[in-house]
Amino acid sequence: MEARVREIRAALLAWFASNARELPWRRTRDPYAIWVSEVMLQQTRVEAVKPYYARFLERFPSVEALARAPLDEVLGSWSGLGYYRRARLLHRGAMHVAEVHGGRVPGDVEAIRAIPGVGAYTTGAIASQAFGLEAPLVDGNVARVLSRLFLVEQDPRRGEGHARVWSLAGELVRGPDPAALNNALMELGALVCVPKSPRCGGCPVRDLCLADAAGRAGELPIVAEKKARPTVVEAAFVLAVDGGVVLAKRGEEGLFGGLWEPPRLEGGTRAEAARAITALLGVEPSLSRRRARVVEHVLTHRTLRVSVYEGTLAERPTKISRAHRDRYVALAVVPIGEIERRGVSTLAKKVLGVRPARPGGLTAR
Ligand code: SF4
Repeated sequence: MEARVREIRAALLAWFASNARELPWRRTRDPYAIWVSEVMLQQTRVEAVKPYYARFLERFPSVEALARAPLDEVLGSWSGLGYYRRARLLHRGAMHVAEVHGGRVPGDVEAIRAIPGVGAYTTGAIASQAFGLEAPLVDGNVARVLSRLFLVEQDPRRGEGHARVWSLAGELVRGPDPAALNNALMELGALVCVPKSPRCGGCPVRDLCLADAAGRAGELPIVAEKKARPTVVEAAFVLAVDGGVVLAKRGEEGLFGGLWEPPRLEGGTRAEAARAITALLGVEPSLSRRRARVVEHVLTHRTLRVSVYEGTLAERPTKISRAHRDRYVALAVVPIGEIERRGVSTLAKKVLGVRPARPGGLTAR
């Protein structure tokens, strides 16, 4: 095993040296910049991240700058990237580093892992790429590559399979260039050992790959059956008043936490929706007779099907009813052209019927 691990390591490093893509976050050893890039890259494509990464670092060039910024501003800069929980955790993590480490990201694995919101994967990325430590990381790409190379026959996202791929990554990273080794594994998964049809013909570790030898590359990694995703029906309200639309701000915890959106409530018939929005705002809107559109939004554990009602209000709403204060904490009337300055979710943009014109920018459809 030891000799095989050494051969795989050497082949990966040699391949990466001449095949690595030129990516902005590979030019730096700044742990903060690496941290930002890794958080953005979770569940988001490289090409989509590039402009956000540059803009975010320009706006928040250091841990301290990020820690000082109001959450609203951070969410505004994240607007359009999705999965806003990542931005909230990054912000919370920056406040921790500012407070506990004087604004410098610590250079040892345990202290990095203790930063709120920094998981095992991000710890490995920061520790290896910024500090050259032999810290493993496993993301979806790495899990796939290792499952195939070592013929792991359990789902690498849970239980034994999960422990096995982390242990293999730990063995591989113990060597001369941990940063390059981790990057090589990710790069191989992104470019060669791809999900549906792995390009084994051009693979630098083909001679060492157990799945290829067994003719089973296409079957791995094992994916345990997923539970069906339930559909939740909701109603959202695009209400015009005083030259703007009404937005409500979600409480900080939970999904969509800290983001602004057109008020959205559990659904039902139009009559029920009308009663619910009147109760929320304390003002009765004049609503269109029919819903303007239906928006579907797929989340990890459920699908939201949102009926959008448009309407007008005779006066500005000023307060949220007591019954809804666990959902919303503030109201604002915002001109459509200024919505981009607030942190709004992709779902809110779909409800509003606007699309991003550039990262964070909005135009009407
Ligand atoms: Fe993946 Fe094929 Fe290379 Fe094995 S030989 S690591 S399955 S690309």
